[in-house]
Amino acid sequence: MQSKNYILWMTGLSGAGKSTIAKKLLEFLKNNNHNAYVLDGDVLRKGLNSDLGFSDNDRKENVRRTGEVAKILYSANVTVIGALISPFRVDREKIRQLFPADCFVEIFVDCPLPVCEQRDVKGLYAKVRKGEISSFTGIDSTYEKPLHPELHLQTDEMTVDECVLEITEYLKKLNTAAL
Ligand code: ADP
Repeated sequence: MQSKNYILWMTGLSGAGKSTIAKKLLEFLKNNNHNAYVLDGDVLRKGLNSDLGFSDNDRKENVRRTGEVAKILYSANVTVIGALISPFRVDREKIRQLFPADCFVEIFVDCPLPVCEQRDVKGLYAKVRKGEISSFTGIDSTYEKPLHPELHLQTDEMTVDECVLEITEYLKKLNTAAL
């Protein structure tokens, strides 16, 4: 039986690998009878956060609302995997404060901008370079790297499976009964 649930908050540039890792991690947790749910920034922006744009204030509100949803799910004993850029340190810290210290895991999904741009999973970097999109994180909108994340994954040097393994090993160390 599941004994403890977590907030696994992934932050990083667009294309760094947050959604990809989130999906695989969700699969792993479910296979281990762990109740988990992914809050994906792109998905939330189509519904709950569809009124928000990409100004600094809207980005802050996007993170704040997602944190509130995470709180609801957490209180229902669900492990939440957050997969959104969440570019500002202060906003991520506010989310951390919503949860018990030993349940919040900040995961820096780190990938150099040129590699993210080369991947260009959603074709967004090409649009930025053509001048069709502005206020893009890492280019003309700030990204503040975490200073002390619980986990730091370099996705240009690791496979998706290696990243997921690092997270699950970390969780096992936190609470062996949970997995
Ligand atoms: P994000 O959600 O951060 O915007 P995505 O997960 O949508 O990024 O895209 C990341 C891309 O990088 C995917 O095409 C994925 O297959 C690739 N990739 C390569 N190595 C990794 C890795 N170690 N972790 C995550 N994604 C990786």
